[in-house]
Amino acid sequence: MSYHDELDELRAKLRQRGRPDLADELLAAERSGATSSEVLVTTGGTLRRWLRAGDAAAIGLADEIERLDRLATDLFHSSNPTFAGASGQSWPRDRLRLDIAPVPSESGSGFQVKVFVNEVEMTSAGAGLGMDPYDVLIPENKFLPLEDPRTFGIARCGCGVYGCDATDITLRRLGDVVTWKWKLHKPISHPSTFAVDEYIREVTRLADDHSWEPPERTAGRLIFARVDHDHLRRLRLRLDWVNNDWRNPERFEICLRYDAGYQIFRRFSWNRDSAEAIATRVVAALNSPDAPTNWRDGWSWHGMDPAHRESPPDIAHASWIREKVGAL
Ligand SMILES: [Zn+2]
Repeated sequence: MSYHDELDELRAKLRQRGRPDLADELLAAERSGATSSEVLVTTGGTLRRWLRAGDAAAIGLADEIERLDRLATDLFHSSNPTFAGASGQSWPRDRLRLDIAPVPSESGSGFQVKVFVNEVEMTSAGAGLGMDPYDVLIPENKFLPLEDPRTFGIARCGCGVYGCDATDITLRRLGDVVTWKWKLHKPISHPSTFAVDEYIREVTRLADDHSWEPPERTAGRLIFARVDHDHLRRLRLRLDWVNNDWRNPERFEICLRYDAGYQIFRRFSWNRDSAEAIATRVVAALNSPDAPTNWRDGWSWHGMDPAHRESPPDIAHASWIREKVGAL
């Protein structure tokens, strides 16, 4: 019996047991997928939501729904050829494709890293929205496998906030295979497995592709790559974020953290400069051997908690002004 026949049968049972709403939900999930792989992910996600919410148990179909979810994941993998890993074990060969796209306007602004496994977009199947490139790619390409497993966020809630909803992966390399174990809001039940050569080629291609970058993103990438982070650390400073000033895109804004208590800001006028030129100005200020004593005009501070709200940080020059955070 095919997966589709199994879903038909499950829908009939749901109606018999007085849950036509669930039958309709399953049908909608089936119809929302444009390809057979997408249908496996959308229906599997629906079945798992019923398991989590207790609906499956309440209608006495938990075992059957769990079996169908496993079947959906198995079929999702088996549409791909398997390959033998170093251990001699055979793995499904999932295929990875990454893409950077603007965040849809209903989710805020900025960019997101979209994650396609077997051509199904996983961040929307998981928490809803891909992470900002600054979270996963810049300055460090977190997709590259290290010696030790690493866990990081790969999708955030559709409202734009990671944590409101979240999908994490634990990434590890096992010989010829890279595995992603899905965590929190999982788009599929089982880990994804990639051939290491193909995988590294794709994650490196993404990091080397700068075609999506507006000037402020190019400047940001250059700044994070060129700033002497050790020098800042010795000054108890850390570069937190950089972007165009949301109040005035003619200005480029940087934010540092000083200890845990303060944010330090500086805005640089674009003056029609290139991204390269503004990055050079920012990096010169931050990497200056005389920093922070030569940071004078144009700097501001904000105390992040009541203990630091009223008094400037001890590195502040008299010319620094207190930032009006949240004010226009
Ligand atoms: Zn949210």
